[in-house]
Amino acid sequence: MDLVWLKVPQWEHREGLFHGFIGRQGGKSRGGYSSLNLSFRVGDNPELVKDNLCDMKKTVGLHDLRIVTMRQVHGPHIIDIRDKHLKEAGEADGMVTEEREIFLGVLTADCVPILFNVPERKLVAGLHAGWRGTLGGISIKMVNHLRERYDVEPASIEVAMGPAIGPCCYEIGADVSVPMVQKWGGVAEKTLQWRDDRSYLDLRHLNRLQLEEAGVTSEKTYQIGPCTSCATNDFFSYRRRRGKNGLQISFIGWL
Ligand SMILES: [Zn+2]
Repeated sequence: MDLVWLKVPQWEHREGLFHGFIGRQGGKSRGGYSSLNLSFRVGDNPELVKDNLCDMKKTVGLHDLRIVTMRQVHGPHIIDIRDKHLKEAGEADGMVTEEREIFLGVLTADCVPILFNVPERKLVAGLHAGWRGTLGGISIKMVNHLRERYDVEPASIEVAMGPAIGPCCYEIGADVSVPMVQKWGGVAEKTLQWRDDRSYLDLRHLNRLQLEEAGVTSEKTYQIGPCTSCATNDFFSYRRRRGKNGLQISFIGWL
């Protein structure tokens, strides 16, 4: 299977840690879902999605294990996962687990997949951050959740943000830029770009700055992979395709 599988170089040597940002190549789906669509909720043939998931897990070394996904709704909810047999976690945009052999999956096609790792605790989290989640400060919510529920110090958290639409392509209107600046002030302004009277947002940069405000050090925040709307051969992009479109997966967990 010819997989696009991006990893965090600093995480590769950690024995027992499985993670990655998987691209769209190497699957069986067709048309707008071509080819490694991993979502059962976008109208693709479920048999093909099942095959895609099975082939992908085999290739990354998680053949008999589950990758839990959630019903992502651009909301503020974060769910704690403890059940190894769970396939889908319900409505949420963030998941956390401290259990071995549970792998958390985030499905995206332009939004930012964010993976959290606390290596000394073998604790991981996955987050889906589009503009609504970012406006709501979901990255900061996750850091607070880890501190309050799991007693994790923000400085011990490592974060990786995967392929997502970049400021090169992510044009936004006043409906997004105005509330963003109202809520996040100078932090949001640093991540807005203006070209020919149009405004563009750097979602990954904004999440990075929010994480810094929450106490996550910038040396432990990694940005992995290209803009999804530029690299359409390798990644699904909702903006680029509109209509029928697949979703790619990012995952993390410890064996
Ligand atoms: Zn781009």
